[in-house]
Amino acid sequence: MFRKLRILILLIVLVNVGVGAWLTRVRTTSWTSPVRVAVFPIPADDSPATRDYLDTLTRETFAPIETFFREDAKHYGIALTSPVDVALARRLDVRPPVPPFGGSRMEIVLWSLDMRAWVWRHGDVDGPRPHVRIFVLFHDPRLRVSVPHSVGLPQGLIGVVHAFATRHQAAQNNVVIAHELLHTLGAKDKYDPETNQPIFPDGFADPGRSPRYPQEYAEIMAGRRPVSPSHAEMPVSLDEALIGPKTAQEIGWTP
Ligand SMILES: [Zn+2]
Repeated sequence: MFRKLRILILLIVLVNVGVGAWLTRVRTTSWTSPVRVAVFPIPADDSPATRDYLDTLTRETFAPIETFFREDAKHYGIALTSPVDVALARRLDVRPPVPPFGGSRMEIVLWSLDMRAWVWRHGDVDGPRPHVRIFVLFHDPRLRVSVPHSVGLPQGLIGVVHAFATRHQAAQNNVVIAHELLHTLGAKDKYDPETNQPIFPDGFADPGRSPRYPQEYAEIMAGRRPVSPSHAEMPVSLDEALIGPKTAQEIGWTP
């Protein structure tokens, strides 16, 4: 009896969360008004250098993301002058629940519910309510050479990004933030997870280019610029990336 009641309550919560997220999703992918994005910086370690770096962050640090969306939206005939509006939210000193990479379906569902509860507790902002919240965990590059995988949740419009706490990586951090932001808007990965190579043709910025390699730009959801059939490079900034036709379709820019 209790078990059935618990399942019923859980189902009601799931339906509510699902419908709420669906409505926000419809609103954010109609592209009739700017999608408001809040970036929450979080120190991922106890390094004083990480905290010092976080103190230098301003809205300007993330402005290239707005430029990237503005220029690419224009290319697809979106009339909005500012399709994405990125605001810097306050620093958080709590870390979000760790996603179960390679976990079972059930573990992923439980994590996504945990994540929503966590966002409900910590994700408020002053001013207009954001549509999308990106939590950026900054790591001191002197403490680690690589960072964990970032993730963007399409249901819930939440992203968790792992970034390096250094000015030299700021432009590349923005590439990762734009990629996860696009996931929250419905875009899918366009690379082979086994090899990290962009998948042809959707993961190529210019699939018709001759010769095909090297490509001049990276398709943002492929994450890398194909240099040869077996090698691809991470773009150093959003200037080297663009939104390909398939991604544009997935986020509602084209029919
Ligand atoms: Zn991805």
